Parts: sequence; structure tokens; C-alpha cells
Amino acid sequence: MGMTDVIEVKLVRTNVFTRWDCTVCDGRTEKDAVLCESENMAVRVCPQCLKENDIDGRLEKTAAALEHEASHYPAFGHCEMSVAATALRNAAFMRSLIGRLRVPTYEQWETAENRVWDDAEACSAEQRDDHVDDGPFEWPDDEPF
Ligand SMILES: [Zn+2]
Repeated sequence: MGMTDVIEVKLVRTNVFTRWDCTVCDGRTEKDAVLCESENMAVRVCPQCLKENDIDGRLEKTAAALEHEASHYPAFGHCEMSVAATALRNAAFMRSLIGRLRVPTYEQWETAENRVWDDAEACSAEQRDDHVDDGPFEWPDDEPF
């Protein structure tokens, strides 16, 4: 991944319902069924960031906040693993993403998220009715969100 390449952040389904870190705002997702991630999972964008629709502005803000924080940590020499060094590295990483993230819209995410829950409901209703089990729900590969 070059430093100037556009990074596609795509909607991906997860079966792990937890609050995932957001790269952009340093916050967390809700326990969503659909996440927005880059291919190598280096970047994850929470729905709140999609909703705000100011990815670059938030990256900048979060990076600045980290740098500010880092400047207040006590200096433990030049240890690469120090908390301050880690914060600065994260801030630099965020800045490197500015202008490069191609993200889905909040509406696209919401549609995908709702559909997963609708499907899940339909699926459990089917099981209650004792219908033939078609196997686990498969997320279509070429879903045009
Ligand atoms: Zn976020």
C-alpha cells in the first residue's frame, strides 16, 4: 500500500458483535452486523463518521488531539515503545490517510445493516415454521450497495 493510494473502505459483514475501534474518530462502533473496513483491515470507519460525512476533517481533528495528548506525556527518553511515541505514530498514520479514504455513504451502510437484521428475522421465522433449512445465509459477493 503506497502512501498516496486511494484506500477503499468497504461494507463487510461480521459475525463478531462487539464495539470495534474506529480509525477516523478514535471512537467505537455499536455492535453492528456490517462494518466498514479496508481490505487489510488497517482502516475501519464507524457509522457515526459516515453520518458526519467529514472524514478528512475528523482525521485531522483526531490526529491533532493525539499529538496534543502526546505532548503532555512525561518524557521517558526516546523509547520507541513509549506511550507518546505510539500516539505520535498513530497521529502520523491518520494524517497519511487524509484525502485517501473512499468510503460508502451512511445510507448505504444503514441499508446493508438493516437488511442483515431483516434476513436474520426472516430466517428465524422460517425455522419456527419448520421449513427446509437452506443453510447459513450467504452474503452475495457482488452486492451493489
Ligand atoms: Zn468514527
